[in-house]
Amino acid sequence: MSKPLVVITGASSGIGEATARAFSAVGHPLLLLARRLERMEALGLPDTLCRAVDVRDRDAIARAVAEAEATYGPTDCLFNNAGIARLADVTEQDPAEWDESIDINAKGVMNALHAVMKGMKERRHGTIVMMSSIAGRKVYPDHTVYCGTKHFVHGVSESIRGQLAPHDVRVIVLSPGIIETEVLDHVTDPNTLQGYKDNKARIGGGISADHVADMILYAYSMPQNVLIQEMVVTPTRQEY
Ligand code: NDP
Repeated sequence: MSKPLVVITGASSGIGEATARAFSAVGHPLLLLARRLERMEALGLPDTLCRAVDVRDRDAIARAVAEAEATYGPTDCLFNNAGIARLADVTEQDPAEWDESIDINAKGVMNALHAVMKGMKERRHGTIVMMSSIAGRKVYPDHTVYCGTKHFVHGVSESIRGQLAPHDVRVIVLSPGIIETEVLDHVTDPNTLQGYKDNKARIGGGISADHVADMILYAYSMPQNVLIQEMVVTPTRQEY
């Protein structure tokens, strides 16, 4: 295998799926992780292992990574992308949505890191792309717990970047604005959802996940001693 293994969490739709297609197109073997196995298998990508894994299950991630590495060699890139956006008026929101958000967007991100970080450090090679959000840099009404989880991702990214830099492992934090994906499909607060849709329509819609995938591939393709620490991307008309 001439190109190294890339692991993508949340690869069954949206930005993860687009990134899987982009890395596959340039010849990388892949490990794709998400709960909807059929969506990942339907991509039909070569040299790709798809596993139905919930990022809340630390051991399942580790098992899938070990299985992929046995076939394709060590993981050189992790796109730590899986996440949910349960936007709502926090004063009315069911705290079960807070638990779910924190478990997936914060603890799930740590679980994926755990599976690859140590190996990259020992090999003195690797790239970790952390999926934050523009909501990890600023705060928005009705994004309270989502903002909390994405600020967590930002904090962790800044910290591990320093930790891993002496070992030549790159940590990139990615902060998109409005991208056209399925991420808002599960918002239960109708007022919040309508407000989001109105704002999106007002600015002419979100941008394609393919553009975000291209950015990730570009950053990864730079020489290992070149680190694009942070990437922020929004539709041009998204003011804030
Ligand atoms: P999608 O909803 O299309 O994709 C989310 C992905 O995460 C799916 O593949 C989903 O797979 C996976 N996922 C969710 N929960 C779990 C879980 N418990 N275990 C494993 N996989 C899980 O939305 P996006 O592509 O937009 O979202 C990807 C990331 O981008 C998220 O972290 C999101 O917060 C972030 N983001 C998105 C923005 C946007 O505007 N779209 C803006 C900023 C950040 P499955 O359900 O099959 O498990």
